[in-house]
Amino acid sequence: MFFFVILHSKTMNKDSFYRDLTTWYDVNHRILPWRETRDPYKIWISEIILQQTRVDQGMDYYLRFVERFPDVQSLAAASEDEVLRLWQGLGYYSRARNLHKAAQYVVDGAQCTMHDGASAHSDKTNDVFPDTFDELRQLPGVGDYTAGAIAAFAYDLPHPALDGNVYRVLARLTDSDIAFDTTQGKKHFHRIAEELLDRQHPRQFDSAIMEFGALYCVPQHPDCEHCPLQVYCQAYQHNTVDLLPVRKPRPKVRDRYLIYTLYIYAGKTLIHQRMGNDIWKHLWEFPLEEVDESMWKASKKEQTKQCIAELTHQLSHQRLHARFLLQEVKQLPEIAGCKAVDWCELDDYALSRLTLRATDIATATAGRIIFPKVRE
Ligand code: SF4
Repeated sequence: MFFFVILHSKTMNKDSFYRDLTTWYDVNHRILPWRETRDPYKIWISEIILQQTRVDQGMDYYLRFVERFPDVQSLAAASEDEVLRLWQGLGYYSRARNLHKAAQYVVDGAQCTMHDGASAHSDKTNDVFPDTFDELRQLPGVGDYTAGAIAAFAYDLPHPALDGNVYRVLARLTDSDIAFDTTQGKKHFHRIAEELLDRQHPRQFDSAIMEFGALYCVPQHPDCEHCPLQVYCQAYQHNTVDLLPVRKPRPKVRDRYLIYTLYIYAGKTLIHQRMGNDIWKHLWEFPLEEVDESMWKASKKEQTKQCIAELTHQLSHQRLHARFLLQEVKQLPEIAGCKAVDWCELDDYALSRLTLRATDIATATAGRIIFPKVRE
């Protein structure tokens, strides 16, 4: 007997749930390039890009990425700097570094296998890419969600893929107020997803429930009155839809105060690469002094003349207050870790979105200083 235990319904079974969900999906789903392919490499790239990124924002990045790196070998062979440059503006740069590392891991592993003579294979992506959940899970930057998504979408293996949209749908269907982003919550919803999964058609099921969460069972004001899954939905019946899903309390946002100096001499400027375990590791930016709040306020007046922009930049747990000072100098100063580059060559370096914003402002407001030829 195949009753739908999770949804506590005596009358509804999984078959009717699958039918209603997939009927909705067949009519309403978006055509997305990474859902039209079975190539695990491209599905992996899309899943990493779409973490913390909306589909409309991620689409261009995805297309550019797979055009420049059409397979795992080309990604593995690229420099980290080139990968970061293609990722520029997307944020969460550790995702790009992990992609690059994982590509090298996949290709090196494949080469070792070949050299050992254990198995011969062609150089096609599909032949070297991991094809089980456990192998996928070993790749840097691949967690349970991403491994499940690649396993289901590329290989049609019976694994649930729980992204934020799916957590929301499951929390509402089962009227569960367990915080989904805690260890306990993840286990709880994973159990539900395992139970609910259509093991005959995992690819279709995972696609449908993710799309349903993304397009229909949306965070604010979903159209429950006309919902095709309304009859299964415990939150609807208990009038708790707007309260779900529950998250754990967010950590306090930390404020940081950054003063950047754009030294300009003969069309050149100074930049340095960020190192250490901090935001934007390995990205390039202008020379920086980080100060505390009192220093930030105290220095404001004396820096007014040089200041070309004061920007606030929000990251997940940090709010950055950044001031950009323009200093036209007779000679670029020697600053440890900095190198001189032509302003026009900044495009060749991977810059954070904040630095990009400042670069655009500087070009627009101080172009005559930055590009001396314009002045002649
Ligand atoms: S009834 Fe409302 S809350 Fe329930 S699944 Fe449908 S859209 Fe989501």
